[in-house]
Amino acid sequence: MSSGLNTEVQFVKGVGPRFANFYKKLGVETVGDLLFHLPRRYQDRRNIPPIARAKPGDVVTVRGKLRRVESRPISGGRVILKAIIEDSSGAIALTWFNQPWIKKQLEESGGDIIAYGLVKAGATLDEIGSPEWEGLGDDEGDAFAKIVPQYPLTEGLPQKVARRAAQSAIDGFLTFVEEPLPDSILKSQKLREVKWCLSQIHNPDNEESRIQARRRLVFEEFLYMQLELAIRRNETQQELGIVFPIAQLERGEPIEVVQSVVVDKKLKRTSHQAQPEDLFHEENAKKREGVPLWSQIEGMLPFSLTEAQDRVIREIYEDMQRPFPMNRLVQGDVGSGKTAVAACCMLAAVRSGYQCALMAPTEILAEQHSRSLKTFLEPLGIEVVLLVGKLNSKDRKSAYARLENGSAQVAVGTHAIIQEGVTFQNLGFVVVDEQHRFGVMQRKAIRDKGFGNPDVLVMTATPIPRTLTMTIFGDLDISVIDQLPPGRKPIKTKWKRPFEREAVYKGVRELLEQGRQAYFVCPMVSENEKMMAQAAEELYRLLSESIFTDYRVGLLHGQMKPAEKDEVMKAFRAHELDILVATTVIEVGVDVPNASVMVIEDANRFGLAQLHQLRGRVGRGEHQSFCILVADAKSDDSLKRMEVMVATTDGFRISEEDLLIRGPGNVAGTEQSGQMDFKVADLIQDSALLEVARQSALRIIENDPKLEDTDWAKVRGKLKERRSDVALITIS
Ligand code: ADP
Ligand code: MG
Repeated sequence: MSSGLNTEVQFVKGVGPRFANFYKKLGVETVGDLLFHLPRRYQDRRNIPPIARAKPGDVVTVRGKLRRVESRPISGGRVILKAIIEDSSGAIALTWFNQPWIKKQLEESGGDIIAYGLVKAGATLDEIGSPEWEGLGDDEGDAFAKIVPQYPLTEGLPQKVARRAAQSAIDGFLTFVEEPLPDSILKSQKLREVKWCLSQIHNPDNEESRIQARRRLVFEEFLYMQLELAIRRNETQQELGIVFPIAQLERGEPIEVVQSVVVDKKLKRTSHQAQPEDLFHEENAKKREGVPLWSQIEGMLPFSLTEAQDRVIREIYEDMQRPFPMNRLVQGDVGSGKTAVAACCMLAAVRSGYQCALMAPTEILAEQHSRSLKTFLEPLGIEVVLLVGKLNSKDRKSAYARLENGSAQVAVGTHAIIQEGVTFQNLGFVVVDEQHRFGVMQRKAIRDKGFGNPDVLVMTATPIPRTLTMTIFGDLDISVIDQLPPGRKPIKTKWKRPFEREAVYKGVRELLEQGRQAYFVCPMVSENEKMMAQAAEELYRLLSESIFTDYRVGLLHGQMKPAEKDEVMKAFRAHELDILVATTVIEVGVDVPNASVMVIEDANRFGLAQLHQLRGRVGRGEHQSFCILVADAKSDDSLKRMEVMVATTDGFRISEEDLLIRGPGNVAGTEQSGQMDFKVADLIQDSALLEVARQSALRIIENDPKLEDTDWAKVRGKLKERRSDVALITIS
């Protein structure tokens, strides 16, 4: 037996076992769930003009006497039902399509009708199609002509039932709801009490009450989330991390002993005592020692850092010196130079006596990173090993051994690095590139695998809008590389219709003649890799056999073996291919500066974030680059997307637009986030309140890091509940 809010929903008046089943599909099993199954919209039925004043296009309530009901058969045995109602000012028709039973209901209604809906112009009379309606007794009508909730439904659950159920729940069970928030916060944030809010959100007296009620519920939802993030952030800061002696390095002082680190008390790991002798072959060490860190960076990079890169590196160095583990997200648009930033951080880590790991989402990217890191770091005697599938067992063994004994200082690979039991002598710094590609990379996973408590740097080119970063990565610090290296010419983006394809080919040909290379991205025919591969092969055949027969065309898709992909990328990079036909496997990170044009076929099938990522593959060298979107824009959304792409190359603007078009749940990289499931809150609409909730949470946790005050007991309980059913994804 259960009681109160745990009562099964079938026992609510008006529900019963049958509708309870439908509710179950909506995740509503108890009365408590039902009370929090909130309206998605409302009908404001308070506007009751005289019938003659209801004009086509108005959404109104009309009230009048039933004059006539007629039903007219139409094709397929269906009927159209038409009722004429009239008041002293005029008449209007109510129509229903194929709901013949309404005729009887109308006739039995007593003749006084109230109805609500959108007015359309009719042949003789204006009419309201499929109105909501009721027959009225003498003094009724108030219950109809008010703000009426619209609940999310599922097949088989009518709106009327949902309204009745919600009302019964409010009437019978609201008394069981307890206020979880302490008085202090209700007062300081001017929030109404929970019972009042629930009653008003289901059944608002007026618009102002509805807004007040909603505001409180949104705030509460945000507060829980932000408290959770603040607590976790706080916990991380209690852990011991590595103190990298950056200041000494900046002065060029040799590092004698690396600070020892207590890794994880729970795992009973003993502390590392780094032994620089193992790590540094004497000769190599000489190349590094005694040189101030920043001059070394200057010598190491073939370009000077942009101001943004410089600032971000300094932010990371600040973190590295602190005694708690770093958790920092670096956002930088495609081409902003994140790899160089990573290299500078690794340099500092290695000079402090620690090893580094970089994990990329794909092997192609891992290789590319390893190539860049090698050119930067190897002249300084830092050994970079690449761990990818194609290594033969001898090379793999030797790579593992060199990492284990410390003679190699940097490992680059996919996230398999942490899963495959690679052993480091002294891992201190981990870079995770494009983490959204393989979901959530948890710091915890790194620690649980026994890699100690290294500093973690996450790099992403996905420009997550500010409102979302705070939500998703609320416990990460964020640095933004908001500047591209100088001399980049902004990519020119053009939108061409399929019938203009000839002109597109001609344009590409001109660039090929100038010695440039081109990408063709094949249409997004399906999520299925196999079908995508077929589409790519088709496009490849077309281009290589009919269009560009005099050029060298290559093919890259997800169904190819790693070694084959490798070959193709190598050939393209070496300009042994002029054209690369590819699926979205080239979406992330591929860097071939001589490729200056990308043609995206059926571009309307791609999301904005994806188009932006794809486009980032060109514009990486000194040549003017182009992105050609070949698309019929069939829907308003796709039209909008094409326009945004043509108008801007600013990743942040694009992601904001993306958010508007698609809604927050769909922004790249956030799909897995359980945190996006808000019952009431809307990240865009309520972003100001989110900031308020965040500030409150930070203040609360600062004063009471574990929420131990009895005032917070109920909230603590709520957080526990949430933890069990919400998959938190942040890195910690
Ligand atoms: P991201 O990973 O942020 O997309 P990369 O790190 O791949 O960008 O850098 C893109 C290209 O820009 C690389 O060829 C890199 O060598 C170059 N680059 C990076 N920083 C600078 C800079 N400050 N000045 C000039 N070129 C740079
Ligand atoms: Mg990159």
